[in-house]
Amino acid sequence: MTETHCPYCSLQCGMRLTGRRSPEVSAWEEFPVNEGGLCRKGWNAAGLYNNRDRLTTPLVRDRATGEFRPVSWDEALDTIAEKLTELQAEHGPDSVAVFGGGGLTNEKAYQLGKFARVALGTSQIDYNGRWCMSSAASAGTRAFGLDRGLPFPLQDLERTDVAVLVGSNLAETMPPAARHLDALRERGGTVVVIDPRRTATADRADVVLQPVPGTDLALALGVLHLLVAGGHVDEQYVAERTTGFEDVRRSVASWWPERVERVTGVPAAEVRAIAQLLGNARKVMVLTARGAEQHSQGSDTVLAWINVALALGQCGTTYGGYGCLTGQGNGQGGREHGQKADQLPGYRMIDDPAAREHVAGVWGVPPESLPGKGRSAYELLDALGTETGPKAMLVFGSNIVVSAPNASHVTRRLESLDLLVVADIVLSETAAIADVVLPVTQWAEETGTMTNLEGRVILRRRAITPPSGVRSDLDVLQGLAKRLDSPIPFETDPEEIFAELGLATRGGKADYSGITYARITEEMGVFWPCPSADHPGTPRMFLEEFATPDGRARFHAVEHRGAAEQPDADYPVHLTTGRVLAQYQSGAQTRRVRDLPDTGAFVEMHPMLAGRIGAADGATVRVTTRRGTMTAPARVVDTIRPDTVFVPFHWVGANRLTNDALDPASRMPEFKVCAAAVTA
Ligand code: SF4
Repeated sequence: MTETHCPYCSLQCGMRLTGRRSPEVSAWEEFPVNEGGLCRKGWNAAGLYNNRDRLTTPLVRDRATGEFRPVSWDEALDTIAEKLTELQAEHGPDSVAVFGGGGLTNEKAYQLGKFARVALGTSQIDYNGRWCMSSAASAGTRAFGLDRGLPFPLQDLERTDVAVLVGSNLAETMPPAARHLDALRERGGTVVVIDPRRTATADRADVVLQPVPGTDLALALGVLHLLVAGGHVDEQYVAERTTGFEDVRRSVASWWPERVERVTGVPAAEVRAIAQLLGNARKVMVLTARGAEQHSQGSDTVLAWINVALALGQCGTTYGGYGCLTGQGNGQGGREHGQKADQLPGYRMIDDPAAREHVAGVWGVPPESLPGKGRSAYELLDALGTETGPKAMLVFGSNIVVSAPNASHVTRRLESLDLLVVADIVLSETAAIADVVLPVTQWAEETGTMTNLEGRVILRRRAITPPSGVRSDLDVLQGLAKRLDSPIPFETDPEEIFAELGLATRGGKADYSGITYARITEEMGVFWPCPSADHPGTPRMFLEEFATPDGRARFHAVEHRGAAEQPDADYPVHLTTGRVLAQYQSGAQTRRVRDLPDTGAFVEMHPMLAGRIGAADGATVRVTTRRGTMTAPARVVDTIRPDTVFVPFHWVGANRLTNDALDPASRMPEFKVCAAAVTA
């Protein structure tokens, strides 16, 4: 029996696995995050094994036939290395790009960043986490000096008085966490859910607001306006622990409730009611997720809600404050260790000379040999195959063809490459268009750490023998680095890599240097920052001071601009996207698990809209945006706004429609809203 963690979301629920070839999942009641509870995906995680789609041999596309042919590992790695060397000799180091994933272990994320910068010498690396929570990360850094999704354990949710969930469907995306909402309500607390759809999470709430997609920012401005007008601002806290409030006070002056109603569609009386609820509460916790963040104004939207929490004197106190509910399994750790275009391990900025010197010292290379900042994820994909863009790309842990915004355009860019290499466990939609596919180990076939949404570093342990023919991503990087004549060798032992990662993060804001595999096992996870072996870790952050130079949090005056695309005569409704309980992200894993229902996409719409276009429940409808079109059955429900349709993004289609407009600070695309036409 092995104690390990779920292969999917950022909760990283603990579970036990028995059987080395046909594993069975059972509850690990002692693990504090989920106390034995799992969602449907977790209980069926063993279905990822003995899957007939599993890749067990490398594939190289035959130029003559266009078909894949199985090859040896040596031939696959030689083919890749030769082509990369040729391209870099002709076009320079940045002609090769690397694309990572928020599901990779910390060790893989760290090695991938090092591989790109040292073995390839390219600045062109980014990852799909840029599309996940980067707006919250950007806002958290600007407001608090440091981004840690939840700066407190999730369990603290039970001890607040009012929890405000902005754009989070926690009850479906991470069901074991929903018990904290129930416990809060049993204690007499109040749950507020803000979402254009009345979701399963809204069903567990006391107050539900359904704003027009893309207007969460305006709602926050209106709430803060009323808090100021009602004398609910904690002036002493604001004076002692923050800066910048006067600009914010002025900036919300004109956001009276009737104006908020006109912009957001939320009745003025409801805006007043929620402001009064927050103003009278002793403890308030504001949590955002993708619904608030995946916008061209995502970071400003998060800042607007942080402003509310700061004005109420909540951030950096126990049982109150602001947090982001990260999505991907290693959404937190994946963004800390160097996969991002602008960062080195430990949240060190790549253009900071001291950071470059420190990390280069750990890696054993001259600091001046490290490349500078590269392109963000979407900008990188948009540049592929162009005159100045990369000619080859290596993809690890990402199914871009399904998950990228404006996906048809991105697919064409991928197809224009001289070489596309995909490492995956199955022939995902992205692997299917690659030139070389590398079959790699998955989840419980390997050991490595993840950092869950609370900043708790946990250890996934190898429990199962991998099929013969597959290799770890770490082996792949080592094999390629050797063939590329890397100036340094690449380790493959996860524990050794984790120790090196600790050194690379030492002294940085996300310091892991006091964390070891042994400690994680003994303590069932360790919260970063943990700068020494005798440091207890940091479950709650900012209690004394924020991570800014003067220790104070920053207010930011932000303006509502609205979504990049507004409905018009041709595209009269809002399109929003999201997840369903039984599937995860691009579906590459979960769509292949027999006991998880693979329903295919659907178009959720209100009966008024269905009546207007003449669509019956279950009838095929067409959704069209300026970027593409898809068809799927209508699902007619009265829980969605009449001016909005929802499509889940686990299947090819939804992201052919989504908008690639980017947030100026985080470079997050506007997945969550665009203008669409729906026809029967
Ligand atoms: Fe896995 Fe997330 Fe479900 Fe927990 S909530 S079992 S981590 S998918």
